[in-house]
Amino acid sequence: MTPSDPCLILGHPVWFDGDPFDDPLTALRDEPDGAVLVQGGRIAAVGPAARLRASHPRVTVIDHAGHILMAGFVDTHVHYPQTHIIASYGAQLLDWLERYTFPAEAAFADPAHARAVAAFFLDEMLANGTTSASVFCTVHPGSVDAFFTEAAARDLRVAAGKVLMDHGVPDDLRDDAQSAYDDSAALIARWHGRGRAHYAITPRFALTSSPEQLAAAGALWAAHPDVLMQTHLSENHAEIAAVAARFADLPDYLGVYEHHGLLGPGANFGHGIHLRPREIARLAESGAAIAHCPTSNLFIGSGLFDLDGLRRHGVRIGLGSDVGGGSSLSMLVTMRAAYEVAQLRGVSLHPAQAFWLATFGGATTLRMDTQIGNLRPGMEADLIALDPAATKLLAARTARANSLADLLFALMILGDERAVAGTYVRGRRVGG
Ligand SMILES: [Zn+2]
Repeated sequence: MTPSDPCLILGHPVWFDGDPFDDPLTALRDEPDGAVLVQGGRIAAVGPAARLRASHPRVTVIDHAGHILMAGFVDTHVHYPQTHIIASYGAQLLDWLERYTFPAEAAFADPAHARAVAAFFLDEMLANGTTSASVFCTVHPGSVDAFFTEAAARDLRVAAGKVLMDHGVPDDLRDDAQSAYDDSAALIARWHGRGRAHYAITPRFALTSSPEQLAAAGALWAAHPDVLMQTHLSENHAEIAAVAARFADLPDYLGVYEHHGLLGPGANFGHGIHLRPREIARLAESGAAIAHCPTSNLFIGSGLFDLDGLRRHGVRIGLGSDVGGGSSLSMLVTMRAAYEVAQLRGVSLHPAQAFWLATFGGATTLRMDTQIGNLRPGMEADLIALDPAATKLLAARTARANSLADLLFALMILGDERAVAGTYVRGRRVGG
């Protein structure tokens, strides 16, 4: 509860009633002259403004007239320790890790540095309208404490975990199988389910863990099946060849994770660009998810993700910024990149599908969809206001919009953090 709770937020609510990959037009719903009633940090009602004002005459009114109101964005794959290496030049995946990532992550041995970067990252995220995320920390347990401490100070529903890496990495960033298990177990006990925190067991990827460490991660997940598991999968051809050489007795890249108990509901694999048919089938059957990170895939030059094909095979998909490999924390910019990547594969991603991936679809992959991701009564009031006239060009374009889908499309192609007019967490304004 905050001083402004209960409150009535006036604007143009947009929500989903169904999966837009089944039918984009019937799944997308709105109330042009509408309002969202927030009570006790939850959405109590969504409907016509006049009706809700009449039935709740004494609540605080927040005026976002002319703004789209929707659930806050969900970033399903991002590295907070890489915030300050965003936009680093000239490397593909394996070089990128050596040249930029590992030196940046070594600095997180200092808890004060970790706290400062976590605070900066979370405030940037909120300014971009992202209210939930699944976040990689570093190998240092203190980087996880720093992140969850700053997230709790902002009352955010986030997932995060200590990165596990004991193979082929610099000495100052190496743990081992036993410490990976013990440190992660202690972090689960300390943070998972505390307030709005979710823990995610986080082996970096197959090349940076020993088989013993992968097995320890699998054993830990078996002991704590309610936590998430996040890692990377099939991002880059050189990486895939190295995995195949190192795990020659296993069928494919996903098979490495599967063999070590790291495939199932609640598993969230970043990228999944160059998958084989067996891997796609196992992802779908197991209920695991892919975090599609299009700005990263373009920026690092990894490849063109087959969103349409994986959806047709029944794979769960969310959208990730993958900063610092990704080039923006904005999920609007991420949606634009997803559209462009799909275009290069001959498919036009519908705006209802893009916004769904960036909200409820992402919440589903993180098993947060009973709490966040849609503007429906009973859900936590994590929501954003988007201004279709935030810039002169947006205003000129959206003035000609002939449908809600057209308006949303213009927002995702032309919008960025300037379009976020307000970010609300459990009904309390925190950014935008
Ligand atoms: Zn990543």
